[in-house]
Amino acid sequence: MRLPVLIALTVIIITSTIFYRLESSTSSKKRDYVLVIHGGAGFVANTEDKEKIEAVTNGIRAALELGNEMLKNGAKSIDVIEAVITILENDSTFNSGRGAVLSMTKEAELDASIMDGSNLNAGAVGNVRIVKNPIKAARSVMDKTNHVLLVGEGAEQFAISQNLDIVENSYFVTQQNLNEWEQRAKLEKGGTVGAVAMDKYGNLAAGTSTGGMMRKMHGRIGDSPIIGAGTYANNNSCAISATGWGEKYIKNAAAFNVHALMTYKNLSLNDAMKEVMYKILDPKDGGMIAIDKNGNYSLIFTTQAMSRGIATSDGIFEIKIWE
Ligand code: ASP
Repeated sequence: MRLPVLIALTVIIITSTIFYRLESSTSSKKRDYVLVIHGGAGFVANTEDKEKIEAVTNGIRAALELGNEMLKNGAKSIDVIEAVITILENDSTFNSGRGAVLSMTKEAELDASIMDGSNLNAGAVGNVRIVKNPIKAARSVMDKTNHVLLVGEGAEQFAISQNLDIVENSYFVTQQNLNEWEQRAKLEKGGTVGAVAMDKYGNLAAGTSTGGMMRKMHGRIGDSPIIGAGTYANNNSCAISATGWGEKYIKNAAAFNVHALMTYKNLSLNDAMKEVMYKILDPKDGGMIAIDKNGNYSLIFTTQAMSRGIATSDGIFEIKIWE
């Protein structure tokens, strides 16, 4: 075999074993409900940091337990998404709500979105700095306005008008994030949160919430509040929440592309996820979680890690960070 071919083959084999992770489950019997959560891709893969691992695991478990109970009791998927993401936003372990990363101006500038697959209604907020739970503001945009996305001051004024909890920006700032900001942390800080759910009525929903990227430009908005990039849900295909390098997900309409491949090319959820993550996006760009209308789930990431949890009506309850 010629040397360049051999080198290329070796590179393909190494990258595919190291960077590509896919976890999925197809069930022959349609599940009653499914909930999948992520706590961000790119989480520093330090297996020694026991405290951080415990915090991430506990945070995901608390969200998963609440969502599982709600779905079991017949809650609607859209309500479960809002509740589960609210818990994660209140947990400073994750890069959303309290504990979010800081922008160039050392402030938390938060983005979130939510989408109801039963009617394609969606709501999102970008660059909010005083709204305690951006996912609730996103839900209000969806329920109470004719718009999909409100940003900055307008979004904040709207949140105030809806009597949502308002806080000082310092509420979001943790010492750890300040330290990492000072160290000009080159480390890719993961921790964006997202959830996808199918309820007992077969309705799909998705949501995502984030502080974005550490030291991002003031005013930068990532993929998380962009419907079709970081979040998408459609009862006819799937529900998706993404995490990773937001600009790449926006440019490639990543979440919508999974839906489009399933809808127009009849790909299975797994094949559509692989196509987007491995062929459309680049290695190390991040990860995505998704479920389809039959309650099959698919979790995929090309970073070293993606914290995540799964709960289903047929008894699966799992939390993982690495492979
Ligand atoms: N996708 C998020 C953003 O670019 C960041 C992340 O998921 O870690 O804003």
